[in-house]
Amino acid sequence: MALIVHKYGGTSMGSTERIKNVAKRVAKWHDAGHQIVVVPSAMSGETNRIIGLAKEIMAQPDPRELDMIASTGEQVSVGLLSMALQAIGKQAVSYAGWQVPIKTDSAYTKARIESIDDAKVKADLAAGKIVVITGFQGVDEQGNITTLGRGGSDTSAVAIAAALKAQECLIYTDVDGVYTTDPRVVSDARRLNTVTFEEMLEMASLGSKVLQIRSVEFAGNYRMPTRVLSSLTDPLIPLEEEANSGTLISFEEDTNMEQATITGIAFSRDEAKITVLGVPDKPGIAYQILGPVADANIEVDMIIQNQSVEGKTDFTFTVPRGEYAKAMAVLEGSVKAHIGAASIAGDTKVSKVSVVGVGMRSHVGIASQMFRTLSEEGINILMISTSEIKISVLIDEKYMELAVRSLHKAFGLESA
Ligand code: ADP
Ligand code: ASP
Ligand code: MG
Repeated sequence: MALIVHKYGGTSMGSTERIKNVAKRVAKWHDAGHQIVVVPSAMSGETNRIIGLAKEIMAQPDPRELDMIASTGEQVSVGLLSMALQAIGKQAVSYAGWQVPIKTDSAYTKARIESIDDAKVKADLAAGKIVVITGFQGVDEQGNITTLGRGGSDTSAVAIAAALKAQECLIYTDVDGVYTTDPRVVSDARRLNTVTFEEMLEMASLGSKVLQIRSVEFAGNYRMPTRVLSSLTDPLIPLEEEANSGTLISFEEDTNMEQATITGIAFSRDEAKITVLGVPDKPGIAYQILGPVADANIEVDMIIQNQSVEGKTDFTFTVPRGEYAKAMAVLEGSVKAHIGAASIAGDTKVSKVSVVGVGMRSHVGIASQMFRTLSEEGINILMISTSEIKISVLIDEKYMELAVRSLHKAFGLESA
């Protein structure tokens, strides 16, 4: 008997029919003698619908109020799933984040989990109940409801699994594992049986939305065995078969079992580029530009500073497209005049494409192969950034899918 956490995403919870299937699958695991905690997302489209309502009222909704409503989709899901379990004879109880409680900081719309109280959940499990806990939400010190950022139910699930010292966290989704790239963009993408933790961290941080990055961080920090698998198979397939399906995140250092140089291609469509032009080239400039941006809780990604000409330089960086207007407001507000910059330019039609693989450490020529492939397709590179196990380029958004497909082919990632 083991304690196992299941997470079901929006598509998996997308209709009452699908919720009944989730209940059957969960019941199968419970019948096999396991203690089960289930963390569902809102039904697909629901979080977008709610956020859309808020934006009809206010272009930039107040973040506290936004979290108040954005979190409701998950509350509907836990209640429905708990009922679906009861309807097939299981004892089940649902909790919202604040009832557990799952405590977070107060960074509305992207809060971080600080602690999870396991007492109530453990008592319910010991009493034979299946516990269903909302994904995506928590509560701050003052009792305000917070959310963990889009895709945050993955993080709730892995964090709950870590807090409960579960044996495994199973992330059920609408694809049957982690692929070499998004199978919706490249139809012959290949499913990976295992992916190293480091690679998964890079893929998630570079835009592969199959797992939210913070869930991968939790998996790494707590060494929580985490598997991505399909919720769309027959819920009654044999448990052993299901338990070994999908993609396991492996923690074995540098054992890329598939022996490839490149493991996958990640992309992020929604990037924006900002250039501060004619900046005096003197110590402290990067800090004076990026400090206020960071203070506004905006994540900066790629950064370049040009060679200075006559004491002036240009400073370019990228931010998530959704934060572009806020970043521009910060810069135009006080920063520009303060540092004496000539002007600020922006481009919101850019995307980032990255190749990822631990094998890069021991292979040379990956960057040149990447740049050659893009040049053969006539794709202009706007910015480049690298780490030990990834190379990212920023390109015009209209070439993003072409870039992903041609790189996937050039690195021989397609399924045989
Ligand atoms: P859920 O609602 O279950 O959380 P998401 O839509 O958040 O599901 O994540 C699953 C989706 O991630 C897939 O449908 C797929 O389009 C996308 N995806 C992006 N990159 C990858 C990848 N490398 N492997 C698998 N899926 C990927
Ligand atoms: N429902 C939330 C979202 O759409 C959280 C999640 O699905 O993981 O972002
Ligand atoms: Mg998701």
